[in-house]
Amino acid sequence: MTAILHRQPKNALPLAVAGDGPYVIDSEGRRYLDASGGAAVSCLGHSCRPVIEAIKAQLDRLPYAHTSFFTNEPSEQLAEHLIARAPAGLEKVYFVSGGSEANETALKLARQYFYEKGEMQRRYFIARHQSYHGNTLGALSVGGNPGRRAIFEPILLDTRHVSPCYAYRGKRPDESEEAYGRRVADELEAKILELGAETVIGFVAETVVGATLGAVPAVPGYFRRVREICDRHGILLILDEVMSGMGRTGRLFACEDEGIAPDLLTCAKGLGAGYQPIGACLLSGRIYDTIVGGSGFFHHGFTYIGHATACAGGLEVQRTIEREDLLANVARQGAALRAALEERFGNHNHVGDIRGRGLFLGLELVEDRGSKRPFDPARRLNARIKRRAMAEGLMCYPGGGTVDGLAGDHVLLAPPFIIGEPQVAEIVDKLGRAVDAAL
Ligand code: PLP
Repeated sequence: MTAILHRQPKNALPLAVAGDGPYVIDSEGRRYLDASGGAAVSCLGHSCRPVIEAIKAQLDRLPYAHTSFFTNEPSEQLAEHLIARAPAGLEKVYFVSGGSEANETALKLARQYFYEKGEMQRRYFIARHQSYHGNTLGALSVGGNPGRRAIFEPILLDTRHVSPCYAYRGKRPDESEEAYGRRVADELEAKILELGAETVIGFVAETVVGATLGAVPAVPGYFRRVREICDRHGILLILDEVMSGMGRTGRLFACEDEGIAPDLLTCAKGLGAGYQPIGACLLSGRIYDTIVGGSGFFHHGFTYIGHATACAGGLEVQRTIEREDLLANVARQGAALRAALEERFGNHNHVGDIRGRGLFLGLELVEDRGSKRPFDPARRLNARIKRRAMAEGLMCYPGGGTVDGLAGDHVLLAPPFIIGEPQVAEIVDKLGRAVDAAL
């Protein structure tokens, strides 16, 4: 018996008791290779000494001091570190405790920005179908995952959704990638015009779609066109890099590969790498100046913003990534993992697509490769794969299987940045057995 309301109360879970590099160890001594970083969190594995020591040292000095009284060194240093590396124009950081809070913060900063400018009539966010931005009501409202929204639909914000840039299913056979990217980006413009540009606050998108579609990057040029459309109509671009950011794609910020900078960018997960709960919202100097020059402060705040110990952990995560040149390893092992997946699953009858960037990779499973027909979601294929993988000693993150038939089941892989060739081989070997056993 347990006194916890678990995520899946009917499923018994193993008891995690220790970590060893990319492995989690349970109370029976079984080792699980963490091929998904949990949910794309544990980018340094589970026993990174420098991060553990930095957290201990901060606890010895000062665990926490409320930010209405003090600032603290780790949060100032982590903010400087991120801003020095952030896309042009992002000049300030607001630290929170996770991804949902980071997105709530971005939505409210965007609304207050226009409020300060006297544009009170702006009230709509446009986001994309088949996206996930978090569980709190604001973040859930911009999210476009029908399953996660369903129960709460009547109490969500009035947001509007357009198509994701999901070439595997959306691009027509006779269409170039460029034309497809333009077509889906233009849906955003049509939606802005339909609502009236003067009523729209911003457009929210995951730079690389994570949990809902399984590591789907946009086609080249899509985000450049989105940026142009937002600028043309004076609306803000909010990129959610909670899952895809902080090095996961091989770049510290996933949007570096798109050649654009958003007005607001959120990150979490890899920022604390699981050693501390922390998220962040980066904002442009223009938004900051407008708010600080207007009412003078941001009408928002959580008890744990700028938490000293969380920021000390996050800062050492960043320093470790640079000291050990881990983004280069993400690129190297990402290419190796992708090649190994192509070799193992490239001709598999039920693997329709292998995609992603860096160590952020997805497989889409289909009943029929030719027609791309998804499996019936009632088969709960993703739950079966997860169970089989755990039995093999592998953590992976299956999802999808939406009832609308707009996407198949997928398996998301997001292993720690510290993996080497033996782990690449182990992931593919165990995943192959798990998928085949689950089908
Ligand atoms: N945004 C994205 C893209 C995510 O993948 C997630 C979590 O999976 C969130 C936001 C929410 O983050 P959290 O669970 O830390 O609140």
